[in-house]
Amino acid sequence: MLEENLLQVEQKIQAACERSGRDRQEVTLIAVGKTKPASMLNEVYQCGVRDFGENKVQEMCRKMEELPKDIRWHMIGHLQRNKVKYIVGSAALIHSVDSFRLAEEINICAKKKKIVMPILVEVNIAQEESKFGVTKEDAVELVRQIAQLDGLSVRGLMTIAPYVVDSEQNRPYFRKIKDLSIDIDAQKIHNVSMDILSMGMTGDYEVAIEEGATMVRVGTGIFGQRDYQTKV
Ligand SMILES: *Cc1c(COP(=O)(O)O)cnc(C)c1O
Repeated sequence: MLEENLLQVEQKIQAACERSGRDRQEVTLIAVGKTKPASMLNEVYQCGVRDFGENKVQEMCRKMEELPKDIRWHMIGHLQRNKVKYIVGSAALIHSVDSFRLAEEINICAKKKKIVMPILVEVNIAQEESKFGVTKEDAVELVRQIAQLDGLSVRGLMTIAPYVVDSEQNRPYFRKIKDLSIDIDAQKIHNVSMDILSMGMTGDYEVAIEEGATMVRVGTGIFGQRDYQTKV
């Protein structure tokens, strides 16, 4: 069943790439397995997926131990400073950096481990109160500040678009954040690249790809509905 879901997602990604004249290689599919057991993630791994996303540190660490070591783990959820130490060095990318204080903590841990941690700055592009992330206006300043820290490197931006029924409603937001990344890139800030644009979830990843997403984070579309009652 998961293989079938994955196939459908893959076909939609390819179609969106074709519609927008993009190469399929430009887009990384991140399978978001939060709340799902490692056995289900393993099924998706067996189909060839190597990028997995989690939104909780503890759950990610547990799954890291249980699953093959060549998986690239993406931290996509809000991150508390006291948990940073558990994922710096083991996660491939932290998508959810939204404050300088958090970046400083990542910097400290990265230096201890003698690595440079790749991160994305999370932007709350629709300015929803319920969501984390900096405003579009504050993003440039935060990127500039973080760029001073040599234990991490800014690789791009991430956003969580509003929950909508018609994904077309999110197109203007995806366009806005793409424009923002182009603006920041044009400033040629040392230690900053804007190669990654992490946007698009099950409900809107096709539109996100058409608007320039290089990473899409798909949970429900691959693993099915989440049940927050069951403990995994
Ligand atoms: C849960 C989650 C996703 C995946 O959501 P779906 O709608 O199930 O595809 C993507 N991004 C983030 C940050 C998430 O927390």
